[in-house]
Amino acid sequence: MPVGSNRPQNRPDISGDEYRRYQEEKAKKRQKLRMRRLLMLVVFVLAAVLLVVCIVMIFRGLFKSKTPASSVGSSVSTSMASSVPTAGGAIAQNPDAWNLQIISPAHPADASLAVPELTTLAYGGVGYYIDTRVADTLQQMITDCNAATGGSLKIISGYRSYAYSEKQYNYYLGNYRKQGMAEEQALAAAAAMEVPPGTNEHQTALAVDFVTNVVTTAATGFDQTAEYQWLRENGANYGFIMRYQADKTELTGVAYQPYHFRFVGVEEAKEMRAKNLCLEEYVGKTPGAATATPPPAASNAGSNSAASAA
Ligand SMILES: [Zn+2]
Repeated sequence: MPVGSNRPQNRPDISGDEYRRYQEEKAKKRQKLRMRRLLMLVVFVLAAVLLVVCIVMIFRGLFKSKTPASSVGSSVSTSMASSVPTAGGAIAQNPDAWNLQIISPAHPADASLAVPELTTLAYGGVGYYIDTRVADTLQQMITDCNAATGGSLKIISGYRSYAYSEKQYNYYLGNYRKQGMAEEQALAAAAAMEVPPGTNEHQTALAVDFVTNVVTTAATGFDQTAEYQWLRENGANYGFIMRYQADKTELTGVAYQPYHFRFVGVEEAKEMRAKNLCLEEYVGKTPGAATATPPPAASNAGSNSAASAA
């Protein structure tokens, strides 16, 4: 036997054809494996893409339901935004529309009321929160008022949270109780300083109190200013009304506050002014109306007058 290995001996066992078939089969198997791997990769990528799409859709759904009109600004695509100033056209008088909501002693809101998207407007080095849907219009109105009157109109109070109102109210109430006041008196006195939480329209983020360089606190003297006159004549063009008129206190449950203006929408404001209606009359929520609920606790009708910045 020649010096050598087994190979030459084994070789003859596999014919050339068989070897080729063997190699082909091996190649086929390898290709099959590669195809399977590719298929798995494709399936995996598809699943990943599907997952991402699902997640994005879920988040968009959540976001939409939380802030209904914020993503569309002042366009017309949601029912609530249909009465925003730029929309024009007919306005549905829907008392549940965001721009017509009432928070008052007769129509209290609870702490869980959703906070709208807020924008900060700065006056005198202090920032005031206002509903983002209204901020630009409000700022424009102030600019135009000051340009027309040579005045100094500015905001001194904007959005107030339920928690803030509660803290303030409890602070005053605690003080009056400590002074030994009878409970009923203490409630009324506290409400005169800060209306009970959930009854302050500032919680809507649609209301502001105005001052000028002359009338520097939210006071009834504001009605003697040129800025006030201008606001009464032109505020409706920006969607704002003077909310608490002297002759409507029975209907609003809030004292005369010439410095307190409220956004309701341009068409709404013009109609209210033309027909001399307060917001309660406009949406059918006057005290006599069937849906009205009794006011809570203290009598607020005359209590939050004058210097209280409610
Ligand atoms: Zn106010």
